[in-house]
Amino acid sequence: FLPHLVASMEEVEQTYIMIKPDGVQRGLVGEIISRFERKGFKLTGLKLFQCPKELAEEHYKDLKSKLFFPKLIDYITSGPVVCMAWEGIGVVASARKLIGATNPLNAEPGTIRGDLAVQTGRNVVHGSDSPDNGKREIGLWFEEGELCAWAAVREPWLIE
Ligand code: UDP
Ligand code: MG
Repeated sequence: FLPHLVASMEEVEQTYIMIKPDGVQRGLVGEIISRFERKGFKLTGLKLFQCPKELAEEHYKDLKSKLFFPKLIDYITSGPVVCMAWEGIGVVASARKLIGATNPLNAEPGTIRGDLAVQTGRNVVHGSDSPDNGKREIGLWFEEGELCAWAAVREPWLIE
């Protein structure tokens, strides 16, 4: 562990990224993970997981009043998802940019949804919308022992 290689802690954020059941079924897991990996973020948690209904409802609790909520819960629980925690400077907003707009028809080419999806209800990936929600969602989807803090040797080539 080389402390001088680690970015100053206040800049470092965590975000919860999830490949939704359509992304898994369509064989896009490697493609999606590699976009975050190549960008330069650090993977700190990763698992394939069949989400129970209660967890899906808790994760999306802010959307409970929406008409699409029952369909959203059915979608998220329809097959395994890939749960990930990613760490880095500005990772929350940056991941949202890599993911693209909620409606894939509005997502720019080059984004995950812009390149790989066509409908809001099948938009292949989730990303936390704030650092606070990043922490909340990682806490919701992972046990503490499933997360891994590690020093990446490439860090001095990414962070000055
Ligand atoms: N969603 C939907 N219909 C809508 C809006 C949202 O099915 O009209 C689903 C979609 O899967 C979306 C998720 O609900 O990704 C969460 O919505 P949010 O507005 O938080 O979008 P996101 O943060 O995922 O871009
Ligand atoms: Mg959201």
